[in-house]
Amino acid sequence: MRLLDKVTLITGAASGIGRSTAMRFAREGAAVIVNDIDEMKGQETVREIKESGGNAIGLQADVTNPESVKAMVERAIKEFGRIDVLFNNAGISGVGALHEVEPDAWDRIMSINVKGVYLSSKYVIPYMIERRAGSIINMSSCVAEIGLARRASYAASKGAVLALTKSMQVDYAEYNIRVNALLPGTILTPFVESYLENSYDDPAAAIEAIKLRQLSGALGKPEDVANAALFLASDESKFMMGAPLYIDGGVVFGKNA
Ligand code: NAD
Repeated sequence: MRLLDKVTLITGAASGIGRSTAMRFAREGAAVIVNDIDEMKGQETVREIKESGGNAIGLQADVTNPESVKAMVERAIKEFGRIDVLFNNAGISGVGALHEVEPDAWDRIMSINVKGVYLSSKYVIPYMIERRAGSIINMSSCVAEIGLARRASYAASKGAVLALTKSMQVDYAEYNIRVNALLPGTILTPFVESYLENSYDDPAAAIEAIKLRQLSGALGKPEDVANAALFLASDESKFMMGAPLYIDGGVVFGKNA
């Protein structure tokens, strides 16, 4: 019960890392607000949490839309009175060297991955300031730290999230709000499965190539990132501020090939 009585809001919690984290937070005693743009899948996460005896509600919203995010936060506050933890997790991938990326695709990835973090934080932070308490977890990626082929737009978006995390931390430290970032490596989620299917003729060979970037012989699982999110959400990490937390099987700090 490491999050007993905490109210947590997770964006993009219908799938992959967000879903796994929602289940984990609920098992640790948190009330979980399950946000996603996909209402039906979000409700599946809610149902699964409730069936295991946890406390959750689903709030559909598009993190790129200010009215939608504002309404979601207001409903969450009406329901629970506060938000202790905001996990800015919603995100999409983008493939291609810079000249291959179409302007619309560039705007879309920046909008979901960066503006989404800005908007959710913008509407939650005033309530955290009021209570002089909060933990914000921003989803970056180890791609923010390494040069990875044909990921220009995605790398730019996750680098922006990492920079934003540090800047936010400086501004909100005086209100006892912590802001940290997660930097996962390759985690086997629907996001990565569809990327492998769409980008490679031989997805199995692609997985082997991905493993060569790591020190670990296995790809990451959503639970590996959920465990790290749990630590940042809980008071156990109270001395972590503006920090990147790597969950990457040794990609950033190791070299296996
Ligand atoms: P996923 O596709 O399984 O889940 C992402 C969820 O975000 C989906 O349910 C989707 O509906 C939701 N979403 C998309 N756009 C949204 C919007 N506008 N508003 C609200 N919700 C929206 O992906 P995942 O692999 O679990 O990734 C989650 C996060 O982790 C992303 O930010 C991703 O960039 C990051 N990440 C993933 C990996 C990986 O290898 N899987 C590695 C590093 C970082």
